[in-house]
Amino acid sequence: PYTGPSAAEILSKRKEYLSPAMFYLYNKPLNVVDGKMQYLFDEKGRRYLDAFGGIATVCCGHCHPHVVDAIVNQTKRLQHSTILYLNHAIADLAEALANKLPGNLKVVFFTNSGTEANELAIMMARLYTGCHDIISLRNAYHGNAAGTMGATAQSNWKFNVIQSGVHHAINPDPYRGVFGSEGEKYAKDIQDLIQFGTSGNIAGFVSEAIQASPIFTGVGGIIELAPGYLPAAYNIIKKAGGLCIADEVQGGFARTGSHFWGFENHGVVPDIVTMAKGIGNGIPLGAVITTPEIAEVLTRRNYFNTFGGNPVCTAAGLAVLNVIEKEKLQDNAFVVGSYLKERLIALKDKHDLIGDVRGRGLMLGVELVTDHELKTPAKLETLHVLDQMKEIGVLVGKGGFYGNVFRITPPLCFSKEDADFLVDAMDYTMSKM
Ligand code: PMP
Repeated sequence: PYTGPSAAEILSKRKEYLSPAMFYLYNKPLNVVDGKMQYLFDEKGRRYLDAFGGIATVCCGHCHPHVVDAIVNQTKRLQHSTILYLNHAIADLAEALANKLPGNLKVVFFTNSGTEANELAIMMARLYTGCHDIISLRNAYHGNAAGTMGATAQSNWKFNVIQSGVHHAINPDPYRGVFGSEGEKYAKDIQDLIQFGTSGNIAGFVSEAIQASPIFTGVGGIIELAPGYLPAAYNIIKKAGGLCIADEVQGGFARTGSHFWGFENHGVVPDIVTMAKGIGNGIPLGAVITTPEIAEVLTRRNYFNTFGGNPVCTAAGLAVLNVIEKEKLQDNAFVVGSYLKERLIALKDKHDLIGDVRGRGLMLGVELVTDHELKTPAKLETLHVLDQMKEIGVLVGKGGFYGNVFRITPPLCFSKEDADFLVDAMDYTMSKM
């Protein structure tokens, strides 16, 4: 049993010693003390079904024994920086990751986070092309350092960003976007941005395949880019000499079920792929993968990362890939995700409050609106359902520009029974409103 400080004590310490800007998912924040696969436990030992942890970090399941063993064994043996000496862990994971990617994407740079991975990717695109301009999508989140804050396309996330050369293209959002699901029409905006806002040549384009966003409101909201958008966008970018960067921080690692990487759902092959979160199942790790030709640009200047690719984190990363393969987690994401989506669509027919159900595999979004025609965001209702589901024992996330989208992104070991429990809890809560 847990004998540590109570939720109230932790909260008061956090208020005194940690950032005042910290936010919590619930008004009465949950004190989670243990995790096991798709479950979290609070200080009283109460179990919660975690349908959100996947997005934060957990891909194979909380404290997956195989990943824990890999971390513990490597920690006992050696933890160090890998910039000075040889060690097999970093090389083994680089090889395993390269084998997961199409085409000539086989040179890996490791980082500690998604932000660092995207910063490096953007810098490489600029070095390779000799151009500065970057295009990203409105409603995108790519990180919180100088360059990625610029690429992140919403005011709340920007602070004194010197946004020279960053252009935000119209978001190909099938639910709220002006062209509905006609992807190619949205892509024309990229052409316009290049034509009217740049010299005609650009460094690159960065986007997710499904916009998932960080923990809170502001951006993302599980928006699947309209079909046909990415192929058209990539063509335009290539013609302007730019590189295409796929941000797989949330959509990679088998989450979409049908494919291992999110971009594969759109039939495109990027020039640079960035990843983090799920790659380490909770351990801080990120990576940038590109072609040998593009990777070459980093021989022209210095780049190193003290802890990027350290033995403990890369041992965890390799264990994650093994677990995904051995436990057929991609198939599970597809089967359970499809089933869960079907049940959520049926729930939409029952409850007017649900305006849209979307996403792929175990990366699903449920958008709540008070009016289907006007798509008026049901913000308060979202908070209420979120809270009530927690009381029942189910944790889902929240996001989207208006904070009215449930983000359902569980660890990939989520079962059909878990899916039923989640939908039943949502149904029960909405029925009582
Ligand atoms: N890209 C995407 C799509 C993300 O969701 C995030 C984090 N929410 C990042 C990049 C940044 O990753 P990190 O928080 O590890 O820096």
